[in-house]
Amino acid sequence: MRVFQKITIVMLMFSISILTWYHFRGDTKTITINPDIHQYYAADDKKVGGISESVLVDKNGRPSVVCKLKKGNYPWPYCETAVHLSNSIFEGIDLSGYSKLVLDIDYKSTDPNGRLRVYLRNSNPAYTKRNDAASLKFNGIEYEPGFNAGPKEIDLSDFQVLTWWIADYKVAVEHAAPEFSNVSIIEIATSSGVNEGDFEMTINSIELHGAWIKETTLLKSILYAWLVMIMSYVLYEQRRLGKKLKASTYREGRLRKLNDNLKEKNVEFAELAHRDSLTGARNRNAVRDWLERMAQQVRWGKQTFSVIYIDIDYFKKINDNLGHQTGDDILREFVLVVTGAIQRTDFLVRWGGEEFVVFCPKHNAEEATEKAEHIRRTVEHHLWCHNEPLTCSLGVTEMKDERITEVIARADDALYKAKNAGRNKVITSVNVTDVDANSRFIN
Ligand code: GH3
Ligand code: MG
Ligand code: MG
Repeated sequence: MRVFQKITIVMLMFSISILTWYHFRGDTKTITINPDIHQYYAADDKKVGGISESVLVDKNGRPSVVCKLKKGNYPWPYCETAVHLSNSIFEGIDLSGYSKLVLDIDYKSTDPNGRLRVYLRNSNPAYTKRNDAASLKFNGIEYEPGFNAGPKEIDLSDFQVLTWWIADYKVAVEHAAPEFSNVSIIEIATSSGVNEGDFEMTINSIELHGAWIKETTLLKSILYAWLVMIMSYVLYEQRRLGKKLKASTYREGRLRKLNDNLKEKNVEFAELAHRDSLTGARNRNAVRDWLERMAQQVRWGKQTFSVIYIDIDYFKKINDNLGHQTGDDILREFVLVVTGAIQRTDFLVRWGGEEFVVFCPKHNAEEATEKAEHIRRTVEHHLWCHNEPLTCSLGVTEMKDERITEVIARADDALYKAKNAGRNKVITSVNVTDVDANSRFIN
Protein backbone atom coordinates (compact mmCIF):
# COMPACT_ATOMS: atom_id res chain seq x y z
CA MET A 1 0.00 0.00 0.00
CA ARG A 2 1.22 3.49 -0.82
CA VAL A 3 2.48 5.52 2.14
CA PHE A 4 -0.13 8.26 1.74
CA GLN A 5 -2.97 5.76 1.77
CA LYS A 6 -1.64 4.51 5.09
CA ILE A 7 -1.36 8.05 6.46
CA THR A 8 -4.92 8.83 5.29
CA ILE A 9 -6.31 5.76 7.06
CA VAL A 10 -4.35 6.58 10.25
CA MET A 11 -5.54 10.20 10.14
CA LEU A 12 -9.13 9.13 9.52
CA MET A 13 -9.03 6.79 12.51
CA PHE A 14 -7.35 9.46 14.62
CA SER A 15 -9.93 12.12 13.65
CA ILE A 16 -12.85 9.78 14.37
CA SER A 17 -11.36 8.73 17.74
CA ILE A 18 -10.66 12.29 18.80
CA LEU A 19 -14.16 13.49 17.80
CA THR A 20 -15.73 10.53 19.63
CA TRP A 21 -13.62 11.25 22.70
CA TYR A 22 -14.58 14.91 22.56
CA HIS A 23 -18.25 14.06 22.20
CA PHE A 24 -18.30 11.87 25.34
CA ARG A 25 -15.38 13.09 27.45
CA GLY A 26 -14.30 16.45 26.06
CA ASP A 27 -16.36 18.50 28.50
CA THR A 28 -14.75 17.12 31.61
CA LYS A 29 -12.56 19.95 32.89
CA THR A 30 -14.00 20.81 36.27
CA ILE A 31 -13.28 23.18 39.17
CA THR A 32 -15.08 22.43 42.42
CA ILE A 33 -15.54 25.39 44.72
CA ASN A 34 -15.04 23.91 48.12
CA PRO A 35 -15.54 25.46 51.64
CA ASP A 36 -12.38 23.62 52.76
CA ILE A 37 -10.29 25.56 50.24
CA HIS A 38 -12.25 28.72 49.48
CA GLN A 39 -13.54 31.37 51.85
CA TYR A 40 -17.33 31.66 52.21
CA TYR A 41 -18.80 34.82 53.69
CA ALA A 42 -22.25 36.09 54.52
CA ALA A 43 -22.77 39.66 53.38
CA ASP A 44 -25.66 42.12 53.55
CA ASP A 45 -26.65 45.69 52.83
CA LYS A 46 -25.46 47.03 56.20
CA LYS A 47 -22.18 48.18 54.67
CA VAL A 48 -24.11 50.36 52.21
CA GLY A 49 -26.50 51.76 54.80
CA GLY A 50 -29.16 49.01 54.99
CA ILE A 51 -30.41 47.11 57.99
CA SER A 52 -30.69 43.53 56.70
CA GLU A 53 -28.86 40.90 58.62
CA SER A 54 -27.17 37.81 57.38
CA VAL A 55 -25.18 35.11 59.07
CA LEU A 56 -23.21 32.09 57.78
CA VAL A 57 -24.13 28.84 59.44
CA ASP A 58 -23.14 25.22 59.00
CA LYS A 59 -26.02 23.14 57.77
CA ASN A 60 -25.11 19.43 57.78
CA GLY A 61 -21.58 20.33 56.74
CA ARG A 62 -22.73 22.76 54.04
CA PRO A 63 -22.35 26.53 54.21
CA SER A 64 -25.69 28.24 54.52
CA VAL A 65 -26.51 31.96 54.73
CA VAL A 66 -29.52 32.78 56.84
CA CYS A 67 -30.88 36.25 56.20
CA LYS A 68 -33.43 38.61 57.63
CA LEU A 69 -34.13 41.13 54.88
CA LYS A 70 -35.40 44.47 56.08
CA LYS A 71 -36.21 47.65 54.28
CA GLY A 72 -34.22 50.46 55.78
CA ASN A 73 -32.89 53.58 54.13
CA TYR A 74 -31.04 51.62 51.50
CA PRO A 75 -33.38 51.31 48.50
CA TRP A 76 -32.15 47.88 47.34
CA PRO A 77 -31.80 45.66 50.43
CA TYR A 78 -30.08 42.34 49.94
CA CYS A 79 -28.29 39.40 51.52
CA GLU A 80 -25.66 37.33 49.84
CA THR A 81 -23.12 34.52 49.98
CA ALA A 82 -19.70 35.63 48.81
CA VAL A 83 -17.12 33.02 47.89
CA HIS A 84 -13.57 34.32 47.61
CA LEU A 85 -11.51 32.24 45.19
CA SER A 86 -8.17 33.68 46.28
CA ASN A 87 -6.58 35.70 49.05
CA SER A 88 -6.62 38.91 47.07
CA ILE A 89 -9.75 40.16 45.35
CA PHE A 90 -7.53 41.53 42.57
CA GLU A 91 -5.94 38.20 41.75
CA GLY A 92 -8.54 35.59 40.92
CA ILE A 93 -8.58 32.55 38.74
CA ASP A 94 -8.94 32.25 35.00
CA LEU A 95 -12.35 30.78 34.17
CA SER A 96 -12.29 31.75 30.49
CA GLY A 97 -11.67 28.11 29.55
CA TYR A 98 -14.94 27.06 31.23
CA SER A 99 -18.35 27.13 29.70
CA LYS A 100 -20.78 26.26 32.51
CA LEU A 101 -21.40 27.23 36.10
CA VAL A 102 -23.17 24.37 37.90
CA LEU A 103 -24.92 25.40 41.09
CA ASP A 104 -26.68 23.20 43.57
CA ILE A 105 -28.37 25.60 45.99
CA ASP A 106 -31.39 25.02 48.23
CA TYR A 107 -33.19 28.33 48.57
CA LYS A 108 -35.88 29.06 51.08
CA SER A 109 -37.68 32.38 50.75
CA THR A 110 -40.72 33.96 52.36
CA ASP A 111 -41.14 35.96 49.17
CA PRO A 112 -42.76 34.24 46.15
CA ASN A 113 -39.83 35.50 44.07
CA GLY A 114 -37.55 32.47 44.43
CA ARG A 115 -34.78 33.82 42.23
CA LEU A 116 -31.17 34.47 43.09
CA ARG A 117 -28.63 36.74 41.51
CA VAL A 118 -25.26 35.23 40.70
CA TYR A 119 -22.19 37.39 40.01
CA LEU A 120 -18.78 36.28 38.82
CA ARG A 121 -16.65 39.27 39.79
CA ASN A 122 -13.73 39.82 37.50
CA SER A 123 -10.71 41.99 38.23
CA ASN A 124 -8.83 43.84 35.48
CA PRO A 125 -6.53 46.85 35.95
CA ALA A 126 -8.31 48.43 32.98
CA TYR A 127 -11.34 49.13 35.18
CA THR A 128 -10.61 47.80 38.69
CA LYS A 129 -9.42 50.29 41.25
CA ARG A 130 -7.30 49.07 44.14
CA ASN A 131 -9.34 50.81 46.81
CA ASP A 132 -12.77 49.97 45.44
CA ALA A 133 -14.16 46.42 45.59
CA ALA A 134 -17.23 47.52 43.62
CA SER A 135 -14.98 48.18 40.63
CA LEU A 136 -14.71 44.44 40.03
CA LYS A 137 -16.77 43.70 36.96
CA PHE A 138 -20.30 42.39 37.60
CA ASN A 139 -20.80 39.42 35.25
CA GLY A 140 -24.31 38.59 36.37
CA ILE A 141 -27.34 36.40 35.87
CA GLU A 142 -30.56 35.61 37.76
CA TYR A 143 -31.98 32.15 38.10
CA GLU A 144 -34.32 30.08 40.20
CA PRO A 145 -32.45 27.45 42.19
CA GLY A 146 -35.44 25.80 43.85
CA PHE A 147 -35.22 23.64 46.94
CA ASN A 148 -33.85 20.10 46.70
CA ALA A 149 -33.94 20.64 42.93
CA GLY A 150 -30.38 19.38 42.36
CA PRO A 151 -27.62 21.02 40.35
CA LYS A 152 -28.52 23.56 37.67
CA GLU A 153 -26.27 24.43 34.77
CA ILE A 154 -25.85 28.03 33.71
CA ASP A 155 -23.94 28.78 30.53
CA LEU A 156 -21.28 31.42 31.08
CA SER A 157 -22.27 32.81 27.70
CA ASP A 158 -25.64 33.76 29.24
CA PHE A 159 -24.03 36.11 31.77
CA GLN A 160 -24.34 39.83 31.22
CA VAL A 161 -22.49 42.79 32.63
CA LEU A 162 -24.71 45.03 34.78
CA THR A 163 -25.44 48.21 32.91
CA TRP A 164 -25.38 50.50 35.97
CA TRP A 165 -21.86 49.24 36.69
CA ILE A 166 -20.73 50.03 33.13
CA ALA A 167 -22.29 53.48 33.44
CA ASP A 168 -21.00 54.25 36.94
CA TYR A 169 -17.44 53.23 36.12
CA LYS A 170 -17.47 54.65 32.62
CA VAL A 171 -16.17 51.37 31.27
CA ALA A 172 -14.75 51.51 27.76
CA VAL A 173 -16.67 49.64 25.08
CA GLU A 174 -13.92 47.05 24.65
CA HIS A 175 -14.28 46.08 28.34
CA ALA A 176 -18.07 46.15 28.49
CA ALA A 177 -18.58 42.51 27.58
CA PRO A 178 -18.62 39.61 30.08
CA GLU A 179 -15.11 38.58 31.09
CA PHE A 180 -13.93 35.62 33.17
CA SER A 181 -10.15 35.74 32.89
CA ASN A 182 -9.52 36.80 36.47
CA VAL A 183 -12.54 35.95 38.64
CA SER A 184 -11.84 36.45 42.33
CA ILE A 185 -15.33 36.37 43.91
CA ILE A 186 -18.55 34.45 43.28
CA GLU A 187 -21.53 36.22 44.78
CA ILE A 188 -24.96 34.65 45.21
CA ALA A 189 -27.45 37.29 46.30
CA THR A 190 -31.15 37.63 46.88
CA SER A 191 -33.07 38.90 43.89
CA SER A 192 -33.64 42.59 43.45
CA GLY A 193 -37.05 43.84 44.47
CA VAL A 194 -37.85 41.10 47.04
CA ASN A 195 -39.97 41.91 50.05
CA GLU A 196 -38.84 41.88 53.61
CA GLY A 197 -38.66 38.45 55.12
CA ASP A 198 -36.55 35.44 56.03
CA PHE A 199 -34.32 33.83 53.50
CA GLU A 200 -31.96 30.92 53.60
CA MET A 201 -29.55 29.76 50.88
CA THR A 202 -27.67 26.52 51.44
CA ILE A 203 -24.81 26.04 49.01
CA ASN A 204 -24.57 22.29 48.32
CA SER A 205 -22.02 22.65 45.56
CA ILE A 206 -20.52 25.10 43.10
CA GLU A 207 -18.71 23.73 40.09
CA LEU A 208 -17.36 25.06 36.85
CA HIS A 209 -17.33 22.80 33.84
CA GLY A 210 -15.26 23.34 30.79
CA ALA A 211 -13.73 21.64 27.83
CA TRP A 212 -10.04 20.80 27.70
CA ILE A 213 -10.07 22.23 24.26
CA LYS A 214 -12.67 24.41 22.58
CA GLU A 215 -14.78 22.61 20.02
CA THR A 216 -13.89 25.18 17.35
CA THR A 217 -10.16 24.86 18.20
CA LEU A 218 -10.40 21.09 17.97
CA LEU A 219 -12.24 21.20 14.63
CA LYS A 220 -9.80 23.79 13.29
CA SER A 221 -6.83 21.65 14.39
CA ILE A 222 -8.27 18.58 12.66
CA LEU A 223 -8.98 20.63 9.55
CA TYR A 224 -5.44 22.07 9.54
CA ALA A 225 -3.97 18.59 10.01
CA TRP A 226 -5.92 17.41 6.96
CA LEU A 227 -4.91 20.46 4.96
CA VAL A 228 -1.25 19.89 5.85
CA MET A 229 -1.61 16.25 4.84
CA ILE A 230 -3.26 17.12 1.53
CA MET A 231 -0.68 19.84 0.79
CA SER A 232 2.16 17.43 1.58
CA TYR A 233 0.55 14.85 -0.68
CA VAL A 234 0.21 17.35 -3.53
CA LEU A 235 3.84 18.49 -3.10
CA TYR A 236 5.04 14.90 -2.83
CA GLU A 237 3.13 13.88 -5.96
CA GLN A 238 4.40 16.93 -7.81
CA ARG A 239 7.99 16.07 -6.91
CA ARG A 240 7.48 12.40 -7.73
CA LEU A 241 5.96 13.18 -11.13
CA GLY A 242 8.68 15.79 -11.76
CA LYS A 243 11.36 13.19 -11.08
CA LYS A 244 9.55 10.65 -13.24
CA LEU A 245 9.24 13.14 -16.07
CA LYS A 246 12.92 14.05 -15.76
CA ALA A 247 13.89 10.37 -15.81
CA SER A 248 11.72 9.64 -18.82
CA THR A 249 12.97 12.76 -20.65
CA TYR A 250 16.52 11.63 -19.92
CA ARG A 251 15.69 8.11 -21.11
CA GLU A 252 14.00 9.47 -24.21
CA GLY A 253 17.06 11.62 -24.94
CA ARG A 254 19.34 8.63 -24.57
CA LEU A 255 17.10 6.49 -26.76
CA ARG A 256 16.99 9.19 -29.41
CA LYS A 257 20.78 9.43 -29.34
CA LEU A 258 21.06 5.67 -29.52
CA ASN A 259 18.61 5.66 -32.37
CA ASP A 260 20.63 8.31 -34.21
CA ASN A 261 23.80 6.29 -33.68
CA LEU A 262 22.07 3.19 -34.95
CA LYS A 263 20.84 5.06 -37.99
CA GLU A 264 24.36 6.27 -38.67
CA LYS A 265 25.69 2.75 -38.21
CA ASN A 266 22.96 1.41 -40.47
CA VAL A 267 23.94 3.83 -43.20
CA GLU A 268 27.55 2.82 -42.64
CA PHE A 269 26.71 -0.90 -42.78
CA ALA A 270 24.47 -0.42 -45.78
CA GLU A 271 27.31 1.42 -47.47
CA LEU A 272 29.72 -1.34 -46.48
CA ALA A 273 27.33 -3.99 -47.77
CA HIS A 274 27.32 -2.24 -51.12
CA ARG A 275 31.09 -1.84 -51.39
CA ASP A 276 33.79 -4.29 -52.28
CA SER A 277 36.14 -4.40 -49.29
CA LEU A 278 39.36 -4.71 -51.32
CA THR A 279 38.93 -1.99 -53.94
CA GLY A 280 36.10 0.15 -52.55
CA ALA A 281 34.24 -0.24 -55.85
CA ARG A 282 30.54 -1.10 -55.76
CA ASN A 283 29.59 -4.76 -55.54
CA ARG A 284 26.72 -6.59 -57.23
CA ASN A 285 24.37 -5.93 -54.26
CA ALA A 286 24.70 -2.21 -54.79
CA VAL A 287 23.19 -2.28 -58.26
CA ARG A 288 20.77 -5.21 -58.14
CA ASP A 289 17.56 -3.20 -57.60
CA TRP A 290 18.77 -0.31 -59.70
CA LEU A 291 19.46 -2.68 -62.60
CA GLU A 292 15.94 -4.13 -62.35
CA ARG A 293 14.45 -0.66 -62.60
CA MET A 294 16.74 0.20 -65.47
CA ALA A 295 15.80 -3.00 -67.35
CA GLN A 296 12.12 -2.16 -66.96
CA GLN A 297 12.59 1.34 -68.31
CA VAL A 298 14.50 -0.03 -71.30
CA ARG A 299 11.71 -2.53 -71.93
CA TRP A 300 9.16 0.30 -71.87
CA GLY A 301 11.33 2.27 -74.29
CA LYS A 302 12.00 5.06 -71.82
CA GLN A 303 15.72 4.51 -71.51
CA THR A 304 18.81 3.39 -73.42
CA PHE A 305 21.32 1.50 -71.37
CA SER A 306 24.66 -0.15 -72.13
CA VAL A 307 27.04 -2.50 -70.35
CA ILE A 308 30.85 -2.61 -70.58
CA TYR A 309 32.43 -5.83 -69.33
CA ILE A 310 36.16 -5.37 -68.46
CA ASP A 311 38.76 -8.04 -67.71
CA ILE A 312 42.43 -7.28 -66.94
CA ASP A 313 44.76 -9.02 -69.33
CA TYR A 314 47.16 -11.63 -68.02
CA PHE A 315 46.52 -10.71 -64.43
CA LYS A 316 47.53 -14.12 -63.17
CA LYS A 317 51.05 -13.38 -64.33
CA ILE A 318 51.21 -10.28 -62.12
CA ASN A 319 50.25 -12.37 -59.11
CA ASP A 320 52.74 -15.03 -60.08
CA ASN A 321 55.61 -12.63 -60.77
CA LEU A 322 55.05 -9.84 -58.23
CA GLY A 323 52.99 -11.49 -55.56
CA HIS A 324 49.38 -11.38 -54.50
CA GLN A 325 49.88 -8.17 -52.52
CA THR A 326 50.96 -6.22 -55.61
CA GLY A 327 48.05 -7.85 -57.44
CA ASP A 328 45.72 -6.35 -54.82
CA ASP A 329 47.39 -2.94 -55.12
CA ILE A 330 46.94 -3.02 -58.91
CA LEU A 331 43.25 -3.96 -58.51
CA ARG A 332 42.78 -0.88 -56.27
CA GLU A 333 44.68 1.30 -58.70
CA PHE A 334 42.65 -0.14 -61.61
CA VAL A 335 39.39 0.97 -59.89
CA LEU A 336 40.78 4.51 -59.45
CA VAL A 337 41.91 4.71 -63.07
CA VAL A 338 38.63 3.42 -64.54
CA THR A 339 36.56 5.64 -62.21
CA GLY A 340 38.51 8.61 -63.57
CA ALA A 341 37.69 7.54 -67.15
CA ILE A 342 33.89 7.27 -66.74
CA GLN A 343 31.10 9.69 -65.86
CA ARG A 344 29.43 10.20 -62.46
CA THR A 345 26.22 8.76 -63.86
CA ASP A 346 27.99 5.51 -64.76
CA PHE A 347 28.33 2.66 -62.26
CA LEU A 348 31.59 0.77 -61.88
CA VAL A 349 31.03 -2.62 -60.24
CA ARG A 350 33.64 -5.23 -59.30
CA TRP A 351 31.94 -8.24 -60.82
CA GLY A 352 34.47 -10.71 -59.39
CA GLY A 353 38.26 -11.34 -59.36
CA GLU A 354 39.89 -9.04 -61.92
CA GLU A 355 36.63 -8.50 -63.80
CA PHE A 356 34.60 -5.28 -63.68
CA VAL A 357 31.38 -4.07 -65.26
CA VAL A 358 30.57 -0.44 -66.09
CA PHE A 359 26.83 0.23 -66.42
CA CYS A 360 26.12 3.27 -68.56
CA PRO A 361 22.61 4.77 -68.47
CA LYS A 362 21.55 6.92 -71.45
CA HIS A 363 24.24 5.29 -73.64
CA ASN A 364 23.52 3.44 -76.83
CA ALA A 365 25.97 0.84 -78.18
CA GLU A 366 27.97 3.39 -80.09
CA GLU A 367 28.39 5.80 -77.17
CA ALA A 368 29.21 2.92 -74.84
CA THR A 369 31.80 1.61 -77.32
CA GLU A 370 33.44 5.02 -77.38
CA LYS A 371 33.50 5.05 -73.61
CA ALA A 372 34.97 1.54 -73.54
CA GLU A 373 37.64 2.61 -75.96
CA HIS A 374 38.43 5.60 -73.74
CA ILE A 375 38.81 3.26 -70.77
CA ARG A 376 41.01 0.89 -72.74
CA ARG A 377 43.30 3.69 -73.81
CA THR A 378 43.47 5.23 -70.32
CA VAL A 379 44.45 1.89 -68.81
CA GLU A 380 46.99 1.24 -71.51
CA HIS A 381 48.65 4.61 -71.06
CA HIS A 382 48.51 4.75 -67.30
CA LEU A 383 51.80 4.47 -65.39
CA TRP A 384 51.14 1.58 -63.04
CA CYS A 385 52.59 1.16 -59.56
CA HIS A 386 54.46 -2.00 -60.61
CA ASN A 387 56.13 -0.03 -63.41
CA GLU A 388 54.99 -2.33 -66.17
CA PRO A 389 52.37 -1.88 -68.87
CA LEU A 390 48.88 -3.18 -68.15
CA THR A 391 46.00 -3.64 -70.54
CA CYS A 392 42.45 -4.82 -70.35
CA SER A 393 39.90 -6.26 -72.75
CA LEU A 394 36.33 -4.95 -72.96
CA GLY A 395 33.00 -6.36 -74.19
CA VAL A 396 30.19 -3.85 -74.90
CA THR A 397 26.44 -4.40 -75.32
CA GLU A 398 23.40 -2.17 -75.45
CA MET A 399 20.45 -3.59 -73.60
CA LYS A 400 17.48 -4.65 -75.74
CA ASP A 401 14.26 -6.42 -74.81
CA GLU A 402 16.04 -8.92 -72.60
CA ARG A 403 16.90 -9.70 -69.01
CA ILE A 404 19.84 -8.12 -67.19
CA THR A 405 21.61 -11.47 -66.95
CA GLU A 406 21.25 -11.82 -70.72
CA VAL A 407 22.73 -8.43 -71.58
CA ILE A 408 25.64 -9.06 -69.18
CA ALA A 409 26.17 -12.52 -70.66
CA ARG A 410 26.33 -10.95 -74.13
CA ALA A 411 28.88 -8.41 -72.89
CA ASP A 412 30.90 -11.29 -71.41
CA ASP A 413 30.72 -13.05 -74.78
CA ALA A 414 31.98 -9.92 -76.52
CA LEU A 415 34.80 -9.72 -73.97
CA TYR A 416 35.68 -13.35 -74.69
CA LYS A 417 35.98 -12.40 -78.32
CA ALA A 418 38.20 -9.44 -77.46
CA LYS A 419 40.47 -11.81 -75.55
CA ASN A 420 40.56 -14.18 -78.46
CA ALA A 421 41.30 -11.32 -80.79
CA GLY A 422 44.56 -10.71 -78.94
CA ARG A 423 43.47 -8.73 -75.85
CA ASN A 424 43.69 -4.95 -75.24
CA LYS A 425 40.60 -4.64 -77.44
CA VAL A 426 36.96 -3.50 -77.33
CA ILE A 427 34.30 -5.68 -78.93
CA THR A 428 30.68 -4.60 -79.14
CA SER A 429 27.80 -7.04 -79.46
CA VAL A 430 25.02 -5.27 -81.35
CA ASN A 431 22.46 -8.04 -81.92
CA VAL A 432 20.74 -9.99 -79.24
CA THR A 433 20.49 -13.22 -81.17
CA ASP A 434 23.89 -13.64 -82.72
CA VAL A 435 26.87 -12.18 -81.02
CA ASP A 436 29.35 -13.64 -83.41
CA ALA A 437 27.82 -12.35 -86.61
CA ASN A 438 27.35 -8.78 -85.48
CA SER A 439 30.31 -8.15 -83.29
CA ARG A 440 32.70 -5.62 -84.66
CA PHE A 441 36.25 -4.70 -83.89
CA ILE A 442 37.49 -1.40 -82.86
CA ASN A 443 41.22 -1.04 -82.68
P1 GH3 B 1 43.31 -13.28 -69.28
O1 GH3 B 1 44.07 -12.29 -70.05
O2 GH3 B 1 42.86 -14.41 -70.12
O3 GH3 B 1 42.20 -12.69 -68.51
O4 GH3 B 1 44.35 -13.84 -68.26
P2 GH3 B 1 44.27 -13.76 -66.69
O5 GH3 B 1 45.50 -14.25 -66.11
O6 GH3 B 1 43.93 -12.37 -66.35
O7 GH3 B 1 43.03 -14.64 -66.32
P3 GH3 B 1 42.80 -15.83 -65.32
O8 GH3 B 1 41.31 -15.97 -65.22
O9 GH3 B 1 43.58 -16.98 -65.75
O10 GH3 B 1 43.39 -15.33 -63.97
C1 GH3 B 1 42.77 -14.35 -63.18
C2 GH3 B 1 43.59 -14.21 -61.97
O11 GH3 B 1 43.17 -13.11 -61.17
C3 GH3 B 1 43.53 -15.44 -61.09
C4 GH3 B 1 43.53 -14.91 -59.69
O12 GH3 B 1 44.63 -15.34 -58.92
C5 GH3 B 1 43.60 -13.45 -59.86
N1 GH3 B 1 42.75 -12.80 -58.89
C6 GH3 B 1 41.43 -12.88 -58.80
N2 GH3 B 1 40.98 -12.14 -57.76
C7 GH3 B 1 42.10 -11.60 -57.16
C8 GH3 B 1 42.32 -10.75 -56.05
O13 GH3 B 1 41.40 -10.33 -55.36
N3 GH3 B 1 43.60 -10.38 -55.75
C9 GH3 B 1 44.64 -10.81 -56.50
N4 GH3 B 1 45.90 -10.42 -56.18
N5 GH3 B 1 44.46 -11.60 -57.54
C10 GH3 B 1 43.22 -12.01 -57.86
MG1 MG C 1 39.18 -13.19 -65.67
MG1 MG D 1 42.04 -11.56 -66.82
